[in-house]
Amino acid sequence: AAGVDERLSAQAREFLARPHRLLIDGQWVDAEDGRTFGTYDPATGAEITQVAHGGPADVDKAVAAARRAFDDGGWSTMKPNQREQILWRIGDLLDERAEMIGQIEALDNGKAATIATAVDVAWAADVFRYYAGWATKIEGTTVDVSMPFAGDKQFHAYTTRVPVGVCGQIIPWNFPLVMASWKLGPALATGNTLVLKPAEQTPLTALILGEICAEAGVPDGVVNIITGFGDAGAAISGHPDVDKVAFTGSTEVGKKIVEAAQGNLKKVSLELGGKSANIVFADCDWDAAVAGSVAAWMFNHGQACTAGTRLYVEDSIYEEFTQAVADAAAQATIGHGLDPATELGPLVDQDQFDKVSYYLRAGIEDGGRALTGGNRHGDTGFFVQPTVFVDVEPDHRVVTDEIFGPVVSALRFSDVDDAVRQANDSTYGLAAGIWTKDISKAHHVASRLQAGSVWVNQYNGFDTAMPFGGFKQSGWGRELGKGALDLYTQTRSVNIAL
Ligand code: ADP
Repeated sequence: AAGVDERLSAQAREFLARPHRLLIDGQWVDAEDGRTFGTYDPATGAEITQVAHGGPADVDKAVAAARRAFDDGGWSTMKPNQREQILWRIGDLLDERAEMIGQIEALDNGKAATIATAVDVAWAADVFRYYAGWATKIEGTTVDVSMPFAGDKQFHAYTTRVPVGVCGQIIPWNFPLVMASWKLGPALATGNTLVLKPAEQTPLTALILGEICAEAGVPDGVVNIITGFGDAGAAISGHPDVDKVAFTGSTEVGKKIVEAAQGNLKKVSLELGGKSANIVFADCDWDAAVAGSVAAWMFNHGQACTAGTRLYVEDSIYEEFTQAVADAAAQATIGHGLDPATELGPLVDQDQFDKVSYYLRAGIEDGGRALTGGNRHGDTGFFVQPTVFVDVEPDHRVVTDEIFGPVVSALRFSDVDDAVRQANDSTYGLAAGIWTKDISKAHHVASRLQAGSVWVNQYNGFDTAMPFGGFKQSGWGRELGKGALDLYTQTRSVNIAL
């Protein structure tokens, strides 16, 4: 029957057996029109459960609730140390339920439950605790003003940081809970209220997070969750009573968000696509570089905006290195996310499977060669083989386009200048990797890369305290770190004539 899997814990089954409704003003409610939609296990294609299908009318209700909650001040003027404790409790509750949440994430998204628990849930908890700490550290300044046209008068001038108001937050399916934590953590720490829309492919862990927020003491109406599709996202980004929209997803939809936001000029932050360069110099630590360069594009089945999918290898080691990468990639254990041996799960849905399959064909049609992989894996579910393309040119589709699957294109470079020029030859600028034992070369190359994050002798070296975001068409603004507080606050300047 739907949702029942022997491998699921009792808590996970209990969650799945419940109705999955919208969270509006502290109540779990059906969609206005009563519609629901199915969410599916990408490893089997089987329906997991039905979820309320929120649309524009539900977004209206959620925004009204968030507005009321913001205006009544119960959250935005709550003592910072109380907000701190509530955020900290959210982190604790996530940790307490890590196994169950990891299982639900694995079932909904396809990723391995072991990874979802150890990485996704643990990181989300860390994000809430990190921003819990910031709640008591939001500070303004005093300014020694001159007021040249005011003669000898004296003034006392200061700034305060105040919340933006009602925030719309739209997130993708690749790291459902983590993306929700990046959005909620800084927004809540700074006293905003919000409407979160998880991706239609992976709505479940956001609902668990909604329950946890209530349990931790977040007042009604502060966190509203609308499960639904792009029309619900569009209703949020175009809503005249939403003050800010934060979006993570494709560059294509990001541009639509910007257009929709124009109506009331709501503030916009965007975390978009990438086609990140991973540069391997001949003087690298070989084993670390091979393992790290495989993980760079295979982590999360390549469904990561930072995936290091343009692998630039120095000429002298190109053949041997790409072969080592292909051999290591081919070793990955592919399977169901709930199977403890699984390293590589399925892609998230049919659309994503079709898109990646298109690129597997395009790689060959454009003249490339697959050193390993190139096909789907098995005949059920949305599994594809990890694929390494060589003999590719800079204008091949697999080199220019974001694929969002376990597919890498390996290119050669001759020297530092050539590596930097090729790495920067992209409309994206999200992340980059550098592998070399020469630390001065690493700093030099890092300083020339057009990328929001540069990782040296590691890949995906994320930390909650490090700002993350894109150059060029990879986005606007920086999440994580203290910079995210700027996305969710605005400055008020107060100048008092004494
Ligand atoms: P991906 O390509 O990773 O699926 P998308 O950019 O399509 O990413 O989707 C990311 C999020 O944006 C999802 O929650 C999706 O429902 C939402 N979305 C899709 N279309 C729109 C739109 N026109 N306006 C706002 N949100 C949208």
